[in-house]
Amino acid sequence: MIVPSISYYMLAVGSDGTTKMPSQPPEHDRQQRDLIAQIATLGPCLPGSITTRQMRCGRARCACKADPPKLHGPYTYWTRKEQGRTIARLLNAEQIERYQPQIDNARQLRQFVAALEALAIKTAEDTEQWGRK
Ligand SMILES: [Zn+2]
Repeated sequence: MIVPSISYYMLAVGSDGTTKMPSQPPEHDRQQRDLIAQIATLGPCLPGSITTRQMRCGRARCACKADPPKLHGPYTYWTRKEQGRTIARLLNAEQIERYQPQIDNARQLRQFVAALEALAIKTAEDTEQWGRK
C-alpha cells in the first residue's frame, strides 16, 4: 500500500477543491533563483582550457633532440573542441591574464548548469514520488 507523505503540494488545494500543483517546493524555488542569480554575475564564459607545454620540433638536428634534450617553449595555448577537432591558439602573457578568468567563468557556468539540472531532477522525483516503493 502506498502511503503518501504530507508534503508541500498537498497543501496547495484551491478554494474550489481542485489541487493546484506548484511547479516546485519553495525551497527548490529559492535554490533555483540563487543559482540563476550567480550565473547572472558571470562575465564572458570562454570554453576550453589553457595549458602550457614544452615541445620538440620537426628538425632532425636540433637542441630539442639532444641528450639531455633542450625543449622549445614553454608555450601556452588556449584549446577548445569544435565538432570533434581540437583548436589551439598560442597565447602571450597578456592574453593568458585576460582569458584565464573567462575560462574560469565557463567552468563555473557548467557547475551552475549541472546544479540547476540536479535540482530539477530532484524536484521531479520528489513531486511524483517515482523513487518510492
Ligand atoms: Zn627543436
